[in-house]
Amino acid sequence: MPPLVRVALPVPVTRLFDYRPADRLPAPGCRVLVPFGRRRLVGVVVGIIAEAQVAPERLKSLLAVLDETPLLDAELMGSLAWAADYWLGAPGEVYAQALPLALREPRPCPDPHPEAWTLTAAGHAALAAGRRRGTSLALLAALAGGACRAGELDAAVPGWRAAARRLAGAGLIERATAAPAAAPAPLPAPVLGTEQQAAVDAVAASFGRFQPFLLDGVTGSGKTEVYLALIARALAAGRQSLVLVPEIGLAPQTARRLRERLGVPVEVLHSGLAEGERARAWLRARCGEAKVILGTRSAVFTPLPDAGLIVVDEEHDAAYKQQEGFRYHARDLALVRARALGVPVLLGSATPALETLANVEAGRYRALHLRARPRAAQAPTVRIVDLRAQTLEHGLTPALLAAVGTTVARGEQALVFKNRRGYAPVLLCHACGWHADCPRCERPLTLYATRRLLQCHHCGHQAPVPSLCPHCGAAALKPQGQGTERLEEALARHFPAVPVIRVDRETTRRRNAFEDLLGTLAEDRPAILVGTQMLAKGHDLPNLTLVAIVGVDEGLYSVDFRAGERLAQLIVQVAGRAGRAAKPGQVLLQTHHPDHPLLRELLAHGYAAASRSLLAERRAAALPPYAHQVLLRAEAPQAQAVEAFLAAARAALSPPPGLRVAGPMPAPMPRRAGRARGQLLLEADRRAELHAALRPWAEGLGALPAAHRVRWSLDVDPIDL
Ligand code: ADP
Ligand code: ZN
Ligand code: ZN
Repeated sequence: MPPLVRVALPVPVTRLFDYRPADRLPAPGCRVLVPFGRRRLVGVVVGIIAEAQVAPERLKSLLAVLDETPLLDAELMGSLAWAADYWLGAPGEVYAQALPLALREPRPCPDPHPEAWTLTAAGHAALAAGRRRGTSLALLAALAGGACRAGELDAAVPGWRAAARRLAGAGLIERATAAPAAAPAPLPAPVLGTEQQAAVDAVAASFGRFQPFLLDGVTGSGKTEVYLALIARALAAGRQSLVLVPEIGLAPQTARRLRERLGVPVEVLHSGLAEGERARAWLRARCGEAKVILGTRSAVFTPLPDAGLIVVDEEHDAAYKQQEGFRYHARDLALVRARALGVPVLLGSATPALETLANVEAGRYRALHLRARPRAAQAPTVRIVDLRAQTLEHGLTPALLAAVGTTVARGEQALVFKNRRGYAPVLLCHACGWHADCPRCERPLTLYATRRLLQCHHCGHQAPVPSLCPHCGAAALKPQGQGTERLEEALARHFPAVPVIRVDRETTRRRNAFEDLLGTLAEDRPAILVGTQMLAKGHDLPNLTLVAIVGVDEGLYSVDFRAGERLAQLIVQVAGRAGRAAKPGQVLLQTHHPDHPLLRELLAHGYAAASRSLLAERRAAALPPYAHQVLLRAEAPQAQAVEAFLAAARAALSPPPGLRVAGPMPAPMPRRAGRARGQLLLEADRRAELHAALRPWAEGLGALPAAHRVRWSLDVDPIDL
């Protein structure tokens, strides 16, 4: 029997598909075009096999082999197969996810370099001898000064393509292998502090082998300088570095810093990139030419044939978890890849995830600490402002307003943080108690005052603002609670002479709006900044000396067991905005629960102590990271359909000892966008037990009769239940 080709196809099933080769046998990792039912699909070859899973007469042949050499190398193929197995994805969909969109098309790979042309020696001679006329002459002349990109030629020599074909045929011009755009000479690096140097030395000593590190340092402690020093070392050895950041907003400034310091091009991979560009950058990484690659979550799939180092900045950030489709975690996948590649991986954070701290505790990761802030005079002072029995001005205490007042009077800037967009989270009738709810989610609608509408934060549903109560007809509708829009208005009224700048998803919708808004703050003038979580990250604001955190109480008594961890991280990250330069910083925390143990501990002893207490609680309650969870979610217009499916799924599971099953139960939001939602939670103390029980069960779920009436998904290590 001649060999057959086993292919992973982008369809939502775990099985692989076998085909007869057409002419030549493709290697694993190559893309192929195959017939699939009435469709044609691009798949990835996973292996060459001797015997098919199906009867020989049912085997079809490949339509085309799209790659001469594997597009996905052995390491990526292995890491992706691991990922598909671990996060219960369909292998073909995982391979497809790893490829930039443009490479999922049935076309050969594009040239990773932008098209450019240059003169050959014969071309120089022809130009000097004046042997050509018209467009050909114009093209030769245009190239006389050096290689030109196609775009430049479009502008300089209209109709150049026909001439280029003739001249290339005559050997007078050729495609330029564009050297990477010359970068300016690198800026000098600062002299590293003792802790920074120790961190660099520890990681550098692990070059060439797998070792995870946690770089634990407050904002401004110089973590990025540690990354830079290590990337420079990797670069000197001709090795590639991959740097992951949680948000696209953080990519440009980090890219600029890398480029200036390292003096090499930095490939930036993120979802905002044009598809062709993204594919070319990916291909430059694949051929080893791109040495420094910076990107958001999906950049974890970048090929690294000459890998030297992987960095995951702000490793605690929830944005690393993909929340739809293939629900992988980029930090965890980065670790798997580092192991397969045999390189160190550096996880950086001021507020490490409890999962990561548990790995340090278990001796799997080595912790490196940066305790000093190189440029700040001292750590900011933190003070609790008791909200109880205070007269509030749109939710702001007199103490908070006074602190903002003295800050701006000194010519400095204040940040008022509230993690809620809009004017108010609830519109309430004072006469009868009615409030505006989303009809599709059964949750309150947020009031937007300037846009004059009510909007649902869960499904986007919009409604006009009624002028009278729809229930009792009274003219008594009052906004309840505060969002950033209301705080902006209140602060602008209270401080009419000071610019008040709001930064949230509404004011930063336009491209670069975030950078522009913060750019206005770079100067040494007083200002008040009002904003959401977006402000918690990155961005040096040297004149910002006061951070006032308004309304954290929702996080203190939440049913979500991760709420405490998230709140502690958020407080520390936001507080880290204050006093980054020489001026001392101050943090105010306004709360109704000044004696809450988490707040007390965080303020008195810092994040390390608070996270130790949180970990102890998790251990006592047998919750992650000391237990492992998988969540089966289902939703449908009818609640019975959801219940029937989850009950059937539960019945189909024969849980081994050690596996705990909870549910079927309604999701924390039992209705969303008009659909009923429910879930089944599986938990075990040991991961291996969980996965062993899970795989055969997961594969049978789609075949349950009740599965056809619901939309369902499995989430391994879910981060929001
Ligand atoms: P992090 O990434 O931990 O927030 P950065 O690396 O951005 O910290 O450093 C904070 C600030 O301190 C930056 O302006 C940086 O240039 C400066 N800095 C960091 N390390 C040093 C050093 N060793 N000497 C002088 N300045 C430093
Ligand atoms: Zn009413
Ligand atoms: Zn809704």
